[in-house]
Amino acid sequence: MYIILLGAPGAGKGTQAEILSKELGLTHVSTGDLFREAQAKGTELGLLAKSYMEKGALVPDEVTVRMILERIAAADCAQGCILDGFPRTLGQARALDEALLSLGKQIDRVLYIKVPSDELLRRLSGRWLCRKCQTPYHTITNPPRVAGRCDRCDGELYQRADDTLETAQKRLEVYFAQTMPLMGYYTEAGKLVEVDGNQAIQKVAEDSLAVLR
Ligand code: ADP
Ligand code: ADP
Ligand code: ZN
Repeated sequence: MYIILLGAPGAGKGTQAEILSKELGLTHVSTGDLFREAQAKGTELGLLAKSYMEKGALVPDEVTVRMILERIAAADCAQGCILDGFPRTLGQARALDEALLSLGKQIDRVLYIKVPSDELLRRLSGRWLCRKCQTPYHTITNPPRVAGRCDRCDGELYQRADDTLETAQKRLEVYFAQTMPLMGYYTEAGKLVEVDGNQAIQKVAEDSLAVLR
């Protein structure tokens, strides 16, 4: 099963992808994590991505599509995967459909996680991530057991440079302009399902599993 998680920055895509990937036995693929990993390694792709990410802009489609198609061609995605943060433009959505079609596969469901804008900014400003396994935490709504350390792997927690109020606002604008049109695209394809993302993490997960199954 190929599932897309659609939602604004801070909607809880990464958080839900972690839970759903375990429940459904599907690999979690996050474009943001792939770009951050490339940055940490200092590769050419990482350097290029950084120049866009730090401004809150999207990395160009050509680069992003090439990276993701390579990733989903790997063996651990052969039975499907959960795409978190991709596609984010109509061009990316069309390229993904074409590539899957040529493999005799297709997107099964697109889960839209709906969260009001003021809540998104609260979430982004309190977000901390594990440097080792990328698990997201929140200072108020989802704190780690030990301050500054990951529950799962004891890795160090850090705040993303693009989670400042200014860059987060820019990312929300980019989302409304470039990613929202995907709702129409996937509604027409009969693939869009919606979940109320403004509830406790476990409740969102339960509701998501109910609409996906
Ligand atoms: P969030 O979890 O807040 O939605 P991500 O970690 O998914 O953010 O993405 C962080 C940044 O990485 C984006 O602001 C953008 O610069 C880049 N990025 C991630 N996914 C894509 C994509 N599909 N297309 C273009 N750029 C992307
Ligand atoms: P996205 O990947 O869509 O940008 P994340 O999964 O990283 O979103 O979540 C953004 C922030 O909000 C994180 O700090 C996370 O711990 C927190 N969060 C996620 N889901 C919820 C929820 N249902 N209620 C409260 N806080 C949440
Ligand atoms: Zn960790």
